[in-house]
Amino acid sequence: MKQKVALITGIAGQDGSYLSELLLNKNYKIFGIKKQNSDQNKYNNIRHILNKIKFVSADLLIETSLIDAIKKTKPDEIYNLAAQSSVAESWKNPIHTGEITALGAIRLLESIRKTNNKIKFYQASSSEIFGGSKKSPQNEETCPNPKSPYGAAKLYAHWMVKNYRETYNMFAVSGILFNHESPRRGLEYVTRKITHEAVKIKLGMSKELKLGNLDAEKDWGFAGDYVEAMWLMLQQENPKDFVIGTGKIHSVLEFVTETFNFLKLDWKNYVKIDASFLRPAETNLLIADITNAKKTLKWKPKINFKNLIKMMVAEELNFLSKNK
Ligand code: GDP
Repeated sequence: MKQKVALITGIAGQDGSYLSELLLNKNYKIFGIKKQNSDQNKYNNIRHILNKIKFVSADLLIETSLIDAIKKTKPDEIYNLAAQSSVAESWKNPIHTGEITALGAIRLLESIRKTNNKIKFYQASSSEIFGGSKKSPQNEETCPNPKSPYGAAKLYAHWMVKNYRETYNMFAVSGILFNHESPRRGLEYVTRKITHEAVKIKLGMSKELKLGNLDAEKDWGFAGDYVEAMWLMLQQENPKDFVIGTGKIHSVLEFVTETFNFLKLDWKNYVKIDASFLRPAETNLLIADITNAKKTLKWKPKINFKNLIKMMVAEELNFLSKNK
C-alpha cells in the first residue's frame, strides 16, 4: 500500500505533537508547515521526533505559500491545527485572531480547491463556537453562539468547511473539540498554569498561584486521546463533523484541589484571586454530547479527569526537579 502523506499546520503545538506521534506509528510521511525564521525554541513538543518529520515553508497569512506547500508535498490529508488559540489573547488581539484562526483556514480550503480537491481536510473547530449556547450538553446540531473573538473566528472557519464540503464536494470536516489538555499544554492555559505553579510551590521555587475565576467549569479531556478522533474522522467513508469531549465537567477549583492534593499541599495557603485573570465574558455551560463520535467513530476518551491531573503533575515534577 502507498505510504500516506499528511501535511500539518501547528505541528509543534500540543495537538500537532500528539497527532504526529500517532501518524508516525501508522507509517505516515509527515510534513509540518513552518513559517520562515520560526523560533526553534518552540519545537520542544516535537524535539523527540524531529528527525522523522519534514518541514515545508509556508504561512497561513499567504495563500500562494500554501498552494506551493501543497504542490511540493502532495498530501493525502491536511490537518489545520494552527491558530491564535487563546481565548484571553483573542480579546487583546481580535484582528490578528481573525486573520489566523478564521482566514487562515479559508486560505487552506482555497488552496486545496485550486490544487487537488481530493485532499482530505481536518479543521480544528472548538467548543467555543457554542460559548453562549442556551442548551447543554451540545452536539453537532446545537446552534452556534460564540462569545469571544476566538469563538467567532473558529465559527467562521467551521461554516466555511461546511460550505466547501457541500458546494465543492470536498472531504472537509470539523472536529468540534472541547478543552483538551496535557503536559504539553501552553502555560497560558489554566490547567498547565495550575500544575506548573503548584509543582514550583512544592519544590520551593514559588510561593503563590494567582488565578481568575475559580468557579468556571469546563469539559476537560486528554489531548492524546483527541488526536485519534481527528484521524478517525478522515478515515470515514463520508465527511461529517463530530463533537469530541468527555461529557463531564469540573470547576477550576476542583482542578486546583486535585492538583494540590496530589502534592499533599493545602491549596488555600497558596491560591490568590487576581482580577487581571478574569475574562470580559465567560462561556455558558459547555458539555460535550459525544453520542455520534461513540457510535460512528467508535471513539471515547480513555483518560479521566483525575488521571489527566496525575499525569500532568508527574511530568511537571519530573521536568522541574531536573531543571530547578
Ligand atoms: P479556554 O477555555 O480555552 O479559555 O481555556 P483556559 O485554560 O485559558 O481557561 C479555562 C477557564 O479557566 C476559563 O473559564 C477561565 O476564566 C478560567 N481561569 C481561571 N483562572 C484562570 C487563569 O489564571 N488563567 C486562565 N487561562 N484561565 C483561568
